[in-house]
Amino acid sequence: METAIPYYWKSMDWDRFMADYPPPPMFQKTTGRLSADALRALQNERFMARVAEAWHIPFYRERWGAAGLEPGDIRSLDDLAKIPSFNSDDLRQAAVAQPPFGNHHPFGREGLGTMPLKLQTSSGTTGIPRVTLFDPMAWEVQGVQAARAFYAQGARPGDVVQITYTNSLANASWNAFTGLYHWMGCVPVTAGSGNVTPTEKQLEYAKAFGVNWWFSRGEYLGRLAEVAAAEKFDLHQLKTRFLHSYLGPDAEGAVRKRLEDAWGCPVYDNYGTHEIGLCSFECTAKDRKHLSEDTVYVETTDVDTGAPLPSGEKGSLVFTSLHRSVPPFIRYDLRDVMILYEREECACGLCTRKLSQFLGRADEMVKLRGTNVFPVTCQSAISKDSRTTGDYICVAYFAGEGLGRREEITVRIERRSPDVDSDALMKDMERALFKDLGVKVGVEIVEAGSLAELTRTGKGDKSRRLLDLRKGK
Ligand SMILES: [Zn+2]
Repeated sequence: METAIPYYWKSMDWDRFMADYPPPPMFQKTTGRLSADALRALQNERFMARVAEAWHIPFYRERWGAAGLEPGDIRSLDDLAKIPSFNSDDLRQAAVAQPPFGNHHPFGREGLGTMPLKLQTSSGTTGIPRVTLFDPMAWEVQGVQAARAFYAQGARPGDVVQITYTNSLANASWNAFTGLYHWMGCVPVTAGSGNVTPTEKQLEYAKAFGVNWWFSRGEYLGRLAEVAAAEKFDLHQLKTRFLHSYLGPDAEGAVRKRLEDAWGCPVYDNYGTHEIGLCSFECTAKDRKHLSEDTVYVETTDVDTGAPLPSGEKGSLVFTSLHRSVPPFIRYDLRDVMILYEREECACGLCTRKLSQFLGRADEMVKLRGTNVFPVTCQSAISKDSRTTGDYICVAYFAGEGLGRREEITVRIERRSPDVDSDALMKDMERALFKDLGVKVGVEIVEAGSLAELTRTGKGDKSRRLLDLRKGK
């Protein structure tokens, strides 16, 4: 018998795909500005299709059954809150239950070879990282999501775009590449991170290739600016049109302002994960982040109780992917804290719900004398003060014994050089952090570079901002 190869270009009806998940500029005229009713109907139809598939997958069938649900109980998006949410710990368990992909996937190894599949992983912690498989639908929708973001930020066909993430087990660079190459007509320059193409070379190449804009994390854009200054390389000569970035917490816009001044162009913030794609992006209005609502349904829930929150309140984001079957993600609690806003007409013409900037990780929340403290909230005050390197870590611990035992946080902050007066910096930081956190924390000034091992800043991963020394919490 002849071998049947699942050719990628035969794997989908591409015209149908583009009508269902319109790339730019169609998105701007169609699903990017549907009426509330039409959007709800579209989301509901996709949601019901995903729920039907999930009943055939052990991870969902077992969890939903344990919560007392039966097929047929979920009749529309209105029933969403009946479905138990899950988080990355549950996915870790799923991988143990059915290695190597996990029992949340619709098939194991026996499914390989029946369709084109790509394996990506969560960023490495300890042990074997979590696997997510991508079929062409999952792969191309995330490309379309990215292209929508790029277009709304001013990207146009023919742009040359430098990507400073490495094409690796992590998804970001592949996602950018697919969006640019398949759905924007832009030319990706897959330079990789500073480990692949040294920062000095990144700048030289950008100049030589006439790079129009960059796809890069905020921290690395700062690093590029530092190296440019040290090498007497004028960043403004690059005539960069904009920077597509991931700013993380930046309450007062200090990080953005510093980057915009150094580069001489706007910086746009975005949000996504490899499971749900690059689903949220700023447009040129820079007024919070649009959601690609035909691809995800988003809720916010109370960090402590998991109860759904009304829009406009700060909570943990729970995502339901509307397009993914391999694997489905239904009520995935990403533990990222943001505010979800009601839909509104934006200056750019899109009409969507929006997300605030990133406000913290629910896992890193510390309750300090009744106040919820997110370590990333410290970032604004610290990065704004030029006496620091910007690197810091919050150390949470118990002080005292018995009834007097209480939770405390000390923030270790790096000073830029030994010339900086530690005492003055400590006092100023204590004051600034009290203002931003709403509760008093201790400050300890340490030497430049001494936190690198703990925070992993610049190591290509998100910086760690909490060292949790509380035992048996
Ligand atoms: Zn807009």
